[in-house]
Amino acid sequence: MTGSAVTGPFGLSAALAEREQAGLLRSRVATDGASGGRLKVGGGDYLNFSANDYLGLADHPAIKVAFQEGIERYGAGAGASPLVTGYSRAHQQLEETLAEWLGLEAVLLFNCGFSANQAVLKALLGKEHLLWQDRLNHASLQEMGSQLPCKMKRFGHNDMAALERQLEPNRGLIVSEGVFSMDGDQGPWRALAALAAQSGNWLMIDDAHGLGVLGPQGRGTLAAQGVNPAGVHIQMGTFGKAIGVAGAFVGGSRELVAYLVNFARHYVYSTHMPAAQACAVIKSIELVRAADEARAQLGELITRFRQGAQALGWQLGASNTPIQPLLVGESSAALQLAERLRGRGVWVSAIRPPTVPVGTARLRITLSAAHRAEDVDRLLDVLGPCPADNERGGTHAA
Ligand SMILES: *Cc1c(COP(=O)(O)O)cnc(C)c1O
Repeated sequence: MTGSAVTGPFGLSAALAEREQAGLLRSRVATDGASGGRLKVGGGDYLNFSANDYLGLADHPAIKVAFQEGIERYGAGAGASPLVTGYSRAHQQLEETLAEWLGLEAVLLFNCGFSANQAVLKALLGKEHLLWQDRLNHASLQEMGSQLPCKMKRFGHNDMAALERQLEPNRGLIVSEGVFSMDGDQGPWRALAALAAQSGNWLMIDDAHGLGVLGPQGRGTLAAQGVNPAGVHIQMGTFGKAIGVAGAFVGGSRELVAYLVNFARHYVYSTHMPAAQACAVIKSIELVRAADEARAQLGELITRFRQGAQALGWQLGASNTPIQPLLVGESSAALQLAERLRGRGVWVSAIRPPTVPVGTARLRITLSAAHRAEDVDRLLDVLGPCPADNERGGTHAA
């Protein structure tokens, strides 16, 4: 009686204790800034292999100036939601920039990718619809999909035969990712577009990790795979990863955008991103488009890391992107490894369930064009040879 009065109806302490016992309790580390592939934490200076700042733009002087000039012109905050007075010329310019860059008819801005994904699914899918999702899609997609009245079917990761068996003609939406956030591999977008077209269903890409990194001018996974964007009805991307700022967009037909302006609740009932942020993103996209050389350097770092890690006996994922999972298996082993690396000045995050499937805990190593070849060599040196008892750890995730 007194116990439940103290803890209330939600059982917070039991949930936390259970997580702790399973070795899965999360906590945060306050950093003192990241720049140039380095991270400052608690007076220490680390090589940073856990950011999504793939092109090293988060600290770029020209983007900071664009942000500052945006603040001078528009102030710090948007002041209102976009349908009231929060939508500015800067927001409109960013939408036009994105549309031109990616070959989209129209674009809409969101405060973050999590809400963009949730807004789209919620606005489109009623109880008469079906939603097909790759099993490894981002939490924002899985979670909203399972809460909606529509029927959701999950297909095995990149398993097009499984998806084809599940599809019903003209019933709903297929969603997958350009580059999978924890595995770094790509979705098979030609096959996805063909299945969507054959079955008369809509197709949506979440390209949070492909945008800026893949394809000519960094146009993303579809451009890299030579897929006509017209065959993908909804494109979503974020500004917090390779773009180096924050926020997100959804693009597609003019009709789709007009529909979302009217029915996407996360858009209509939320204060718009600051106009200055839109100014910073416009500047970043200009740099991203011109960064083919940085992308080529990044490709060289990826190859260098993969060859080195394989020679040391580590299990890697099937990834040719900056996301390089080092498969370990047990959560405790992944944590210990991350701890050991930190002790030697290398910051890498251990990723554990429920973020990834049970038994596939990993180090999620991310490379950036801000790194130098010596930085990758240092990482490999600190990793050292894979211990023998880890060697089979990764095989069930491969
Ligand atoms: C990071 C991420 C998101 C969320 O984007 P935010 O802007 O960080 O909210 C959505 N989808 C994928 C695949 C992501 O990796």
